[in-house]
Amino acid sequence: MAKIFCVANQKGGVGKTTTTVNLAAGLAKLDQRVLLVDLDPQGNATMGAGINKAKLTASIYEVLLGMSDVTTAKLRSESGRFDVLPANRELAGAEVEMVSLENRDKRLREALAKVDADYDFILIDCPPALSLLTLNGLCAAHGVIIPMQCEYYALEGLSDLANTIKKVSANLNPDLKIVGLLRVMFDPRMTLSQQVSDQLEQHFGDKVFKTLIPRNVRLAEAPSYGIPGVVFDPASKGAQAYIAFGAEMVERIKQLEK
Ligand code: ATP
Ligand code: MG
Repeated sequence: MAKIFCVANQKGGVGKTTTTVNLAAGLAKLDQRVLLVDLDPQGNATMGAGINKAKLTASIYEVLLGMSDVTTAKLRSESGRFDVLPANRELAGAEVEMVSLENRDKRLREALAKVDADYDFILIDCPPALSLLTLNGLCAAHGVIIPMQCEYYALEGLSDLANTIKKVSANLNPDLKIVGLLRVMFDPRMTLSQQVSDQLEQHFGDKVFKTLIPRNVRLAEAPSYGIPGVVFDPASKGAQAYIAFGAEMVERIKQLEK
């Protein structure tokens, strides 16, 4: 049975895709069987895993609409050593086309149930919106990882996300929990980064992952080569932090299960 996690934050550009791709590759390095689900029409996770989103014969779009299944549509990230259910801009259409379908918020959950036994982890990269696509991600997952930048407006919007997660867990998916908040693009030289980081710890205590992901140019360069940062330059500070985060995740899941 795979553990399924959603990486979500409706704010754009906060490090969701970087986190999903590097966690996938980090877990693969620990010999875990991983499926990365790209739930964003931007297809950034697909490209970051080294798969050309312009040349897909099947994608998550067909899977959500019941025209294909995960086993047929999935591709291999050779650089990251994990499977990918890829996405491209076609997926934007699914948002509209799914509205009239039965069980429209559980389409992804139903599709993933069929491959559950093939993986240890399924990681879902959500789009920057609290949309029907994100709802499908939340309904399919056991937990949510929320990447956050330690900046002035970081907390704004967090309550909307937390409320959505609460509603989903009350009405649609009782399994759903917030696994933790991950501080990303952290710059220790900035007093503000440190202050917001401290505030997060005060407000959310144990829900804040101990691992801090620093701002690191190697993480930003890696996607243009189609290689996850943790593989592209394993010695870089960013890669080391994501490896540590993978280990912390595994530990945290063990505790959640107790
Ligand atoms: P979107 O909301 O558009 O899906 P996102 O939340 O998935 O964005 P990313 O695409 O992961 O965010 O990151 C936004 C930008 O910041 C990218 O150019 C990425 O390479 C860069 N980036 C992410 N994390 C880091 C980091 N730790 N250090 C340096 N650059 C980073
Ligand atoms: Mg993204």
